[in-house]
Amino acid sequence: MTTVDVDLKYIWHPAAQMKDYEKFRPLAIKRAQGVYLYTEDGREILDIIGSWWCSLLGHCNERINKAVTEQLSNLEHVIFANLTHEGAARLVQRLSKILPPGLCKFNFADNGSSAVEMALKIAFQYCAQTGRERKIKFACLEEGYHGETIGALSVGSMDKYTAVYKPMMMESIHIKAPDCYRCPFNCTRDNCKALCLSSAKESIEKHAHELCALIVEPLLQGAAGMRVYPEIYLKGLHKICKDNDVLFIADEIATGFGRTGEMFACSKADISPDIMTLSKGLTAGYMPMSIVCTTQQIFDAFYDDYQKGVAFMHSHTYAGNPLGCACANAVLDIFEDENILDEARDSAAFLTQVLNDRFGGHKNVGEIRHIGLIHALELVADKDSKAAFDPKARTGYNIYRHALLEEGLLLRPIGDVLYFNPALNIKKEDLLKAVDKMSRSIDYVLGK
Ligand SMILES: *Cc1c(COP(=O)(O)O)cnc(C)c1O
Repeated sequence: MTTVDVDLKYIWHPAAQMKDYEKFRPLAIKRAQGVYLYTEDGREILDIIGSWWCSLLGHCNERINKAVTEQLSNLEHVIFANLTHEGAARLVQRLSKILPPGLCKFNFADNGSSAVEMALKIAFQYCAQTGRERKIKFACLEEGYHGETIGALSVGSMDKYTAVYKPMMMESIHIKAPDCYRCPFNCTRDNCKALCLSSAKESIEKHAHELCALIVEPLLQGAAGMRVYPEIYLKGLHKICKDNDVLFIADEIATGFGRTGEMFACSKADISPDIMTLSKGLTAGYMPMSIVCTTQQIFDAFYDDYQKGVAFMHSHTYAGNPLGCACANAVLDIFEDENILDEARDSAAFLTQVLNDRFGGHKNVGEIRHIGLIHALELVADKDSKAAFDPKARTGYNIYRHALLEEGLLLRPIGDVLYFNPALNIKKEDLLKAVDKMSRSIDYVLGK
């Protein structure tokens, strides 16, 4: 039996109707280098989505490989209760210098969703221990995404995939998200005055007495379809939370580490959240690791004599994993030494130009939006009315399938939103190649 035969016999893949796998069998990847994956049967695949947004500096990056290999021969893992190690200490000291001011305490988890869970619990317990006992609810944006565990789902958008879990979930306040492509005020991102903030303001003021925190994906709602919204909205939302004594949790799992053109989206918008979650780019996609960053003020609410019972009694087996920390330190080394942000900004400007030239006049490309090196094309049935394709037609999926199998391009759209979120050090020639491959795949499915 081949790898794929064995896989299909036993494995349940993420976020999939497994019946689809009968006709669209998985590809067995043998090795990877830079932005390229190589299959067992010798095919080359251009990974333009950073393997689910986490391969930040390319697959099998030489410097990260070296750092992990060195770490591996010294210390692979150690319990993080009462024990510590140099990699973790060095990492958080470095993070404290580059994060928005005020974030100076760090608690480790082992994936994005568990960092979100931890952030929610810290916020909740902080309120309980600072005389805010009635503040027990969370607010979030309607199209938000913060992971798949039950707490994280509870502060995410309620769609057809999550509705089934509703009886298991806590009740959150869902705020209408900014929707710049279909702006109800007919503004553009450039002349935005964040008029849609009024509904956020109304909800937050109305619920302030029971609201512990708001969680938000800063500047980019990734899973919603790479929806980019302006800094003015984020700044406004932050201020509304401050004015109403509602903690502000920035989920930078997707936006952190240069994805938006700055190291962190919050820095770009010049705000300091009370709590920030990091994962994905943190280890450049090498190791499952996440960190919850918070302020001295929040930390202090948990700091007292043991008998007071106010400690944060939360743990993850792999907290502070040394291999993860070695990756994260190598990522920061590379940012420091290799001009990654400048080059990514240059590549981003190039890609914006190429996509606008190529697809600006396309009858089915409703919007080309971008932040940092992340670029997205929203496909629509009709450009004037911005009407979507019938979801049953699975337009994005069909383009994805064609691109992967016939063009060797890993796209994996969100619905009918095709996007690029590649390694920040991708070469321009590879960006061009990806555009060509995507273009032919769109033509194949939608006709010229
Ligand atoms: C990916 C993601 C998560 C969840 O992270 P996992 O490691 O997949 O659990 C949470 N929030 C945001 C913004 C993400 O992009």
